Amino acid sequence: MNLILLGPPGAGKGTQAKRLQERYGVVQISTGDMLRAEVAAGTDIGREADAVMKAGQLVSDDILVRMLSARIERPDCARGFLLDGFPRTVPQAEALDRMLAEKGLALDAVMELKVDDAALVERIAGRYTCAKCGAGYHDTFQKPREPGVCDVCGGRSFTRRADDNRETVMARLAAYHRQTAPILPHYAAQGKLRSVEGMAAIDEVTRQLEAFLDPLAGVVTEAVAS
Ligand code: ADP
Ligand code: ADP
Ligand code: ZN
Repeated sequence: MNLILLGPPGAGKGTQAKRLQERYGVVQISTGDMLRAEVAAGTDIGREADAVMKAGQLVSDDILVRMLSARIERPDCARGFLLDGFPRTVPQAEALDRMLAEKGLALDAVMELKVDDAALVERIAGRYTCAKCGAGYHDTFQKPREPGVCDVCGGRSFTRRADDNRETVMARLAAYHRQTAPILPHYAAQGKLRSVEGMAAIDEVTRQLEAFLDPLAGVVTEAVAS
């Protein structure tokens, strides 16, 4: 399956993508993670993206489209992909349609996570990640079972993103409403858009996404005898 998770910064795209990739055998492609890796490696793209990301603005469509096109050709995408953070503008959505058509691929579904702006600021301000394995946590909403120890890998050091501060968040939310939300009608017109209530608890959002995706994936959920 080829899927897109859409939603404002902090909506839970990364959190849900990590869960869905195991169930459906798709690979999560986070353009934010890819750009942060370019910044960390000090590449040309990284140098150009760094200041733009710190200001909470969007990196140029041209860079993103080239990066994504190369990424979905990699063999690990053969069973499908789950885009997290792309497309983020109408030109990116249009370029993606052309790119997939050229590669003989198609999108199966676009899932929108709907979350109020006030909740997003709180989610982003409390977000942190395991430095070793990348597992995501939150100061209030998703604490590790043992304080200071990653549930997944046992790591003890964590990082916070440079752009996860209140001022930058406001710019990122504005960019979402102005540049990304206009993509929604593009996918609604294709009959591919499914909106999910992202204000619910993490497990509940996962259940809603699975209820929608299982039939598409042909997953047979075993009926429990009652
Ligand atoms: P995105 O990838 O959309 O920017 P994340 O998945 O990183 O968002 O989630 C942002 C923060 O909010 C993380 O710290 C995560 O643990 C937390 N979070 C994710 N989904 C929920 C939810 N449904 N309810 C409460 N907190 C959530
Ligand atoms: P979040 O889901 O919390 O908004 P991401 O990790 O997806 O964060 O993105 C972080 C930053 O990386 C964005 O604010 C933007 O500057 C840049 N970025 C990521 N994906 C794209 C994209 N598709 N187009 C343009 N810029 C992007
Ligand atoms: Zn870890």
